[in-house]
Amino acid sequence: MRPAWALAGSPLQRKLGIDDSPDKMLQDMLAAGLFLNHVELAKRVAEKCSEAVQWTIDYLGVEYRDALVQFGGHSVPRSYQTTNGSGAGIVNAELKKLEELGVSVETKRKFARLLQDESGRVKGVEILDNYKFPSESSGQSKFIKAKKAVVLAAGGFGRDLELRMIQDPRLNEEVDCTNQPGATGEALLEALRVGAMPVQLCWIQLGPWAGPDEEGFGVVPQFSVPAACPWGIIVDPETGKRFVNELTDRKRKADAILETGHPAVNLCDSLGAEKVPPGFLERGLEKKSIRKFDTIDDLAGFYEIPAGALKETIARYNSFVKKGVDSDFGKPIPGDAQPLTHPPFYAARLWPKVHHCMGGVRINTSAQVIGLNGEAIPGLYAAGEVTGGIHGACRLGSVATADCIVFGRIAGQNAAREQAWG
Ligand SMILES: Cc1cc2nc3c(=O)[nH]c(=O)nc-3n(C[C@H](O)[C@H](O)[C@H](O)COP(=O)(O)OP(=O)(O)OC[C@H]3O[C@@H](n4cnc5c(N)ncnc54)[C@H](O)[C@@H]3O)c2cc1C
Repeated sequence: MRPAWALAGSPLQRKLGIDDSPDKMLQDMLAAGLFLNHVELAKRVAEKCSEAVQWTIDYLGVEYRDALVQFGGHSVPRSYQTTNGSGAGIVNAELKKLEELGVSVETKRKFARLLQDESGRVKGVEILDNYKFPSESSGQSKFIKAKKAVVLAAGGFGRDLELRMIQDPRLNEEVDCTNQPGATGEALLEALRVGAMPVQLCWIQLGPWAGPDEEGFGVVPQFSVPAACPWGIIVDPETGKRFVNELTDRKRKADAILETGHPAVNLCDSLGAEKVPPGFLERGLEKKSIRKFDTIDDLAGFYEIPAGALKETIARYNSFVKKGVDSDFGKPIPGDAQPLTHPPFYAARLWPKVHHCMGGVRINTSAQVIGLNGEAIPGLYAAGEVTGGIHGACRLGSVATADCIVFGRIAGQNAAREQAWG
């Protein structure tokens, strides 16, 4: 699973003969989001993502691969990936552009407080300079005056155990997380303190492609998403049976795995394993989070799956592959799929981990933060994972980058148009 971002109706889709539109993407986002999405915000992402990717190409010089990926819950392949296979393909291009523009990026500074005037207009921030994460006693207080406005882009709070357990008590310390350690919620709480309206904070996404045999994001997602889900199956080791459409959205898949009460086993054969991006299979095998077997009997023995039941499941799935129709779970079988008969076989255990916060502060389509009174808080904008409502109950894979860049640009443009003050 190289980092990817979704856009609808792209030139690459037209070249590959894929029929897509912003409306189709919006419908996918709403279906995955259980229709809890704030439709006007989701619509803005679906409508503006093509323009945003073009901006990264034309203005930032980002390069993308000449192929599209279909993530779970998307009705067609629509996700772009950078040629270097990493989000750094975008971030480094942004940093280079900032340098060209003479904008300095300050690190080791912790955002502490929003500063307002008597009318409530946000006029600056208090920070801790020389802050050393996570030492709360480090850093010196400093005040920074905003020339025009403040844009909050502090991300989600997946690593903030206290806040995430307040929102969803099931997500205790035993549930691992794919995020970096700084994915904490104090900036979100500060926005709430100045009166921002919270939206859907308890909708915290679990990544169903994560493995319990490694920490954090790891390499299992690189096996499961591009290879073992499209070109393989997920089984319950207790029964040897499939129990979910391997290409459904993250929420449905995570819920289905959790319902079994124990890790699932995701497997594919050597043809499927060819789809794993270079290097990841080897790393998974080395870490033992991915395993290799010469026969299905060996695989069943290792994971203590009833071998007869597993063989029956594979034979049934292979018959679906031949017909191109999954009569049990409605998985869209990839056009070039082959029956699972080509040893060696590869497998990994799956157990969901905290991945994305769908909730956050309420914004409008101009990226202004909306207060409890329904009015925009003057001088305060927000974009990205710190905002809520765009994805409803479940963010589709590769739509976070689309959301962040679309609303990041809107927030930046509108903040720049604000009247300078003081
Ligand atoms: C492993 C992984 C893989 C992913 N892959 C994809 C993908 O392929 N496609 C996709 O669309 N999405 C993907 N996502 C989701 C996507 O990366 C995030 O939703 C997105 O990066 C959020 O961007 P952001 O700018 O809102 O916040 P972030 O990128 O999280 O940036 C916010 C920054 O603010 C910092 N911060 C927080 N609080 C403070 C504070 N008080 N003071 C100072 N700094 C603070 C944080 O430490 C962080 O550095 C992935 C996420 C993870 C974890």
